[in-house]
Amino acid sequence: MLNIVLFGPPGSGKGTQSEKIIEHYGLTHFSTGDMLRAELAAETELGLRAKSIMEKGELVPDDIIIGMIRKRITGQKDARGFIFDGFPRTVAQAEALDKLLDELGMQINVMLGLEVDRQELIDRLLKRGNEQGRSDDNLETIENRIRVYEDQTSPVMGYYQGQGKYRGVDGIGSIEDIFSRLSGIIDNL
Ligand code: AMP
Repeated sequence: MLNIVLFGPPGSGKGTQSEKIIEHYGLTHFSTGDMLRAELAAETELGLRAKSIMEKGELVPDDIIIGMIRKRITGQKDARGFIFDGFPRTVAQAEALDKLLDELGMQINVMLGLEVDRQELIDRLLKRGNEQGRSDDNLETIENRIRVYEDQTSPVMGYYQGQGKYRGVDGIGSIEDIFSRLSGIIDNL
């Protein structure tokens, strides 16, 4: 099995590159952001709890996120592998993921980190806000999401570095160029 964590700040291209990786390697996608947006659209209790947190660009509590992943991952034993996109976003989530995978006899093979500078992230997210109308892609929320990433999420990189699994990739360039940097690493695992 090939289990990948695709890592990087908001706007670094995780969603776009996940699609390419899924298409090429046949992996199952776990995007906690997409799951939360689906809960929100269906107006579930969880979605209603998450709504104001997401609008502010804060993190949804770890127990909710871990519960969502747990529910979806069990029963996926025949998958060729998983790609985690936007998760884990805290060290507690990373520890819970390791524990969950361990219970299932699996592990993370690699964390691929998309490295993009701050101004480029803001420019990309403002553009996406105009094109896709995502309500959290406005300047105030974008700046908070980047701050939350720096404070709470960037330590997750150290967690995987400690396991020798982190590989950083230049996240600037064409979609194809970035994909070929990522697949170069995956193919050599
Ligand atoms: P994303 O689409 O990954 O940028 O996620 C959008 C928003 O959903 C984030 O700004 C958070 O409010 C929430 N969210 C998504 N994934 C997580 C996670 N793993 N932990 C906590 N909050 C999350």
